Amino acid sequence: MTAGPVLRLDGVRKRFGDTEVLGGVDLTVGEHDVVALIGASGSGKSTLLRCITLLERIDDGQIWLRETDISDPRVPADRIRARIGTVFQQFNLFPHIRVIDNVTLASRKVLKVPRAAAEARALELLDRVGLADKAREYPDRLSGGQQQRVAIVRAIATNPELLLLDEITSALDPELVAEVLDLVRDLSTEGTTIVMATHEMAFARDVADRVVFLDGGVIVEEGPAAEVFQRPREERTRAFLSRFL
Ligand code: ADP
Ligand code: MG
Repeated sequence: MTAGPVLRLDGVRKRFGDTEVLGGVDLTVGEHDVVALIGASGSGKSTLLRCITLLERIDDGQIWLRETDISDPRVPADRIRARIGTVFQQFNLFPHIRVIDNVTLASRKVLKVPRAAAEARALELLDRVGLADKAREYPDRLSGGQQQRVAIVRAIATNPELLLLDEITSALDPELVAEVLDLVRDLSTEGTTIVMATHEMAFARDVADRVVFLDGGVIVEEGPAAEVFQRPREERTRAFLSRFL
């Protein structure tokens, strides 16, 4: 038996009021795929990621996480979110609890992992990213780059099947971008399945297997990273990419 895709979007539509923000998105993400979601500001990248994590409910279509139809309103969102790690642009660590508690929260509360086991795993992950010594600190004592690395560690602490990254370096000072991207590169090398919205085109070209170009809430072009960046088929993709030259 061959494993099916990790994620499958089928005709996903999302409206805010009268405005259709996602106009029927089909997307399949296989195991170990790294997919870069590119497109201008307002093209729907964040909304698409938020629909996948069930922070937004879709108006039409279906979203499958392996064999689970997660667009079924009856599925419990917190259980699904333990299966999908998510990191956003703004550091969203809980400010009032320590780094270690940020990392263990979902494992303990949702997956009911005992505290000792959850903390052992968290320390192992923090150690891997060079932040074991920050485990007892509060988030505001860390640099932006360190906070984003903790946010990534928190996102993978539940062993999710899929990691979603939404422009996770956009709010960082330029000198802190590399340490975060290096971690994402390591995770991709280890086979983590990733969908990332990004403006880091050089990084996307380097790390992503596939690139999806979104414009006006629809996928205009999608293909292997090397092809989309070097030989975009669509005029709209060319126009978008030319801004980064
Ligand atoms: P991107 O991440 O590509 O910049 P977004 O998904 O944030 O794009 O936004 C897509 C469109 O949806 C934009 O026009 C934005 O203004 C609109 N939008 C996003 N969230 C909301 C919301 N909660 N209510 C109304 N409109 C929204
Ligand atoms: Mg966005």
